[in-house]
Amino acid sequence: MKYDVAIIGAGMAGLTAGIYASRAGKSVLIFESGAIGGQIITAPSVENWPGSFRISGADLMQDIKNQAAELGAEIRYEEVVEIAKKDKTFLVTTDEDEYIAGTIIVAMGTEPRRLSEKQAKDAGDRAISYCATCDGALYKGKPVVVVGSGNTAKQEMAYLKNIASKVYHIHHDDPIPEDAEAVFVAIGRVTNTGFLKGLVDLDDNGYVIAGEDCVTSCPGVFVAGDCRVKEVRQLVTAAADGAVAAEAAVSYLSE
Ligand SMILES: Cc1cc2nc3c(=O)[nH]c(=O)nc-3n(C[C@H](O)[C@H](O)[C@H](O)COP(=O)(O)OP(=O)(O)OC[C@H]3O[C@@H](n4cnc5c(N)ncnc54)[C@H](O)[C@@H]3O)c2cc1C
Repeated sequence: MKYDVAIIGAGMAGLTAGIYASRAGKSVLIFESGAIGGQIITAPSVENWPGSFRISGADLMQDIKNQAAELGAEIRYEEVVEIAKKDKTFLVTTDEDEYIAGTIIVAMGTEPRRLSEKQAKDAGDRAISYCATCDGALYKGKPVVVVGSGNTAKQEMAYLKNIASKVYHIHHDDPIPEDAEAVFVAIGRVTNTGFLKGLVDLDDNGYVIAGEDCVTSCPGVFVAGDCRVKEVRQLVTAAADGAVAAEAAVSYLSE
């Protein structure tokens, strides 16, 4: 199957890129390996998306997904595992199939950093969660532990204090208290761009190197959103990148 634009990731950046590329008359395929909408869908309330004060992340992304689909973007629940350049096109391999695309937009975002091997072993069979608002209610009246030392860890603790019987707070690599029934992990986020190594330049943490023009080191490959090297990782900047990357991809196709 051949598409003009293949987009990896159906978060804010990828869906916005899909809207712009579809409106420019291009055939668009968006791949999503997790949940459509990306990382914001667990946020109960977004207060800084212009035009929709206190909308839930899930509702916001549902609207944007519907908009992309109505404009013609196709979405497939497949994980992209490899991209190879073949002359002037790209071969996109997923966990299910292969596709040809004229241009690629990488919009893979970030994912939560996992526990260290030592702490994962320590946690044993206990539940591990990366989202207190999603899973906290399951531990009503039970002792839980939050791992992490940043702002997110503090927010997770504040949320869980209203639910759990006790909320322990430990740092990365500390031993996990024996009586904690669930481990809430808030130790930052990481990229998952390993398979792009060799195709595009990445920094030491795996972020795709590109400026505000979203142009990568590989002609025909563009990057949008949180997986790009940038200062501000927010919804509006992800959406802006999506638009810029899509316009650049459309220009590349007409060259
Ligand atoms: C709890 C929380 C609250 C937040 N609150 C706010 C807020 O209030 N306001 C704000 O502006 N920002 C907020 N942010 C930040 C904001 O969510 C992000 O900046 C934004 O969602 C990034 O969008 P993205 O499209 O770049 O990446 P993501 O949302 O991470 O989307 C990337 C998508 O790509 C998919 N993917 C990854 N690899 C592959 C692959 N190989 N194949 C197929 N699909 C793949 C992922 O599954 C994911 O769905 C919050 C973040 C979190 C975690």
